[in-house]
Amino acid sequence: MTDLLFDVLVIGAGAAGLGAARTLRDGGARVAIVEARSRVGGRAFTAQHGWPLDMGAGWLHSADRNPLVEVAQGLGFKIDRSTPPWQKANDQPDFPRSEQREFRKAMDAFFERVEAAARDPQDRAASTLLEPGNRWNPMIDAVSAYVNGTELDGLSVKDFDNYHDTEVNWRVERGYGALMEKISEGLSVFLDHPVIRIDHSGAQVRVETTKGPFAADTVIVTVPTNVIASGMIEFDPALPDKLNAAAHLPLGHDNKLFLSLDGAEEFEADSRLYGRRETSATASYHIRPFGRPLIEAYFGGRLARELEAQGLEGFGRFAIDQLAATLGDRICNRLKPLAVSMWSSDPFAGGSYSHALPGHWDKRAVLAAPAGDRLFFAGEACSAHDFSTVHGAWITGVEAAKKILAAQNR
Ligand SMILES: Cc1cc2nc3c(=O)[nH]c(=O)nc-3n(C[C@H](O)[C@H](O)[C@H](O)COP(=O)(O)OP(=O)(O)OC[C@H]3O[C@@H](n4cnc5c(N)ncnc54)[C@H](O)[C@@H]3O)c2cc1C
Repeated sequence: MTDLLFDVLVIGAGAAGLGAARTLRDGGARVAIVEARSRVGGRAFTAQHGWPLDMGAGWLHSADRNPLVEVAQGLGFKIDRSTPPWQKANDQPDFPRSEQREFRKAMDAFFERVEAAARDPQDRAASTLLEPGNRWNPMIDAVSAYVNGTELDGLSVKDFDNYHDTEVNWRVERGYGALMEKISEGLSVFLDHPVIRIDHSGAQVRVETTKGPFAADTVIVTVPTNVIASGMIEFDPALPDKLNAAAHLPLGHDNKLFLSLDGAEEFEADSRLYGRRETSATASYHIRPFGRPLIEAYFGGRLARELEAQGLEGFGRFAIDQLAATLGDRICNRLKPLAVSMWSSDPFAGGSYSHALPGHWDKRAVLAAPAGDRLFFAGEACSAHDFSTVHGAWITGVEAAKKILAAQNR
């Protein structure tokens, strides 16, 4: 079979791959994307279940400096700027506002300890910064599972502290995944083409997929760290440093469950309920996202991974039990599980978003460095300060593309 030939080949059609390909095309390069799935967007995917449901990314984090806000607006997507539920006090029958304030105080104190400890030369697990015996520890751990995909015992303090966020969070009404799909229009994307081998030993880079070979002057690899670490793609010559870096920046575990809610008007739009507070194995519930008659339940860490074995039914049962404990048994008949994500068992993701294991905060730079002058790496895990986000992924893709264009004097 003859190789399909391009100036640049991008592996993966997630935010990083799309950002890279768009920049390269606009810069005049002949570029294509090879993508394993039968859709674009990667971990930003909008499913349609009567409403557009973001099964992965939903929030434009750091929205006041997020380049995708302008891209979205340019493509006619409406941006919702209302305050996210976690940034306002919520009325929850069994969690009075005075206790919510106490919890926030404990969280703030924990973040101050993280900031101080990050200045130490030695890295450590973030769980070592919990105040022994503090009643809010399980909830702080649960929040870590939502924002990092891991409980604090698996999280590097220095990496956690390296994440920069302006705390401005907006949403794309039609879905973040739908935006990715729109961005991909007009780009040359080969779907259902899992890459199995990248040979960067010769004058050109050869990329083998299950559907046939490609060749290019330069390649940008944007697949998730778990895919790199799994060895699904063989590099020739081998890249042990990359595999090692990827293995120490694993994707955590987070999943979303959407339930329909009868008689939703009784509840405030875009409000929030916490599940149990004495354990980290609990979900957080976003009530009526965009005012829709839905509940979006967010699961993180070990719980998110374990429930995947039980599918929609298992997630649904867990969420309905927790909601009934807070709102009373009569809520049960008003809730119906609609859709759930399964990011950890997804072969082309293997989890939600990357975090550094304790002692390995320096691995993002190792992963992000090009291997020679023709093999580049991008993706959320390569971002120094915006990792675990769509815009972080996008920016790394755009930057890799700009370097390639500059080297080609375009
Ligand atoms: C539940 C959940 C909630 C999230 N919430 C938010 C949020 O609110 N805001 C936010 O900014 N971010 C959020 N994120 C994180 C965000 O989705 C990711 O950081 C971002 O989408 C990653 O983009 P990427 O391009 O680096 O990787 P990906 O999106 O994973 O793209 C990589 C692509 O490579 C493809 N691929 C994999 N293996 C191969 C192969 N062998 N050959 C070819 N292609 C391959 C994949 O199919 C994929 O399309 C969330 C993620 C999850 C899972």
